[in-house]
Amino acid sequence: MLTVFGSTALDTIRTPKKTLKNVLGGAATFAAISASFFTKPSLITVVGDDFPEEYYNTLKRYLDIQGLSVIKGKTFRYDGKYDKNLSVRETLKTELNVLGDFKPSVPKEYQKSDFVYLANNDPVQNTKIIKEFDNVKFSMCDTIDFWINTRRSDVIKMIKSVDAVVINDEEAKLLTKEDNLIKCAKKIMSWGTDYVIIKKGEHGSLFFYEDMIFPSVGFSLESVLDPTGAGDSFAGAMIGYLAAKKKTSVSEIKKSVVYGNVLGSFAVEGYGLDTLLRLQKSDVTRRIKQYEKMVSF
Ligand code: AMP
Repeated sequence: MLTVFGSTALDTIRTPKKTLKNVLGGAATFAAISASFFTKPSLITVVGDDFPEEYYNTLKRYLDIQGLSVIKGKTFRYDGKYDKNLSVRETLKTELNVLGDFKPSVPKEYQKSDFVYLANNDPVQNTKIIKEFDNVKFSMCDTIDFWINTRRSDVIKMIKSVDAVVINDEEAKLLTKEDNLIKCAKKIMSWGTDYVIIKKGEHGSLFFYEDMIFPSVGFSLESVLDPTGAGDSFAGAMIGYLAAKKKTSVSEIKKSVVYGNVLGSFAVEGYGLDTLLRLQKSDVTRRIKQYEKMVSF
């Protein structure tokens, strides 16, 4: 059983071609919907009483939402702007709102989850909630520049409490104060986690375990519309795949990383969650086959 904890948001996303206002987003949303192509994830998150019913119904269609709390106040809001190449994103606003003083708890039905993903969220909340599960076999977390800049020592404590960290290249450098990605991964592992996956956007990812490095390419695309949520979709696919297989061997983690690249590639082809919400399982299988063909020689 997989539980995903983290932010559910109303996002404003500014791309060169289009601006989306208050669309359904959030790290836990992207990750859990991506994971739903492999298993039915349970979601723990919080929204305000302004959260549109249409979005609530979307979450309900894909996920077990017994762990979704609706609190009086405003939903978490994120506002980000991409440069003309869609390669650099500037955060214009992060409004925590109801997420700020959320006191999460794990519904009884979720306590037996053997796979737990702590999506991008307040590191103190993440570290606290992981202790509430009885039977965790594999846990993974992510973070973002906002938390590294405001709560670096709490991010390091959170890393100690999980088996794996999935993080993008710029954030790994910011967090570890290193310039080289191998050095970044070694430092993150020295803080007490076994596996580190560094995402490199369109260039794929590096998976580190002890002295091993497993590089994997991104799925090559001709057209990208909106990179928002790609990293979360990557992580959701990884842990969704592992939870469905109920395995955590290094060779299965390598396969999960390939699924991560593939779901991340779907996420960037449309705006917000558009592509993930239109996707069929057969699309995923087809693209995995294309990926295999692309990398074999
Ligand atoms: P990504 O593009 O994979 O980095 O994820 C973007 C998603 O993360 C957006 O949908 C945001 O709502 C969410 N997000 C942005 N900043 C934060 C933050 N400080 N804490 C939690 N979630 C965030």
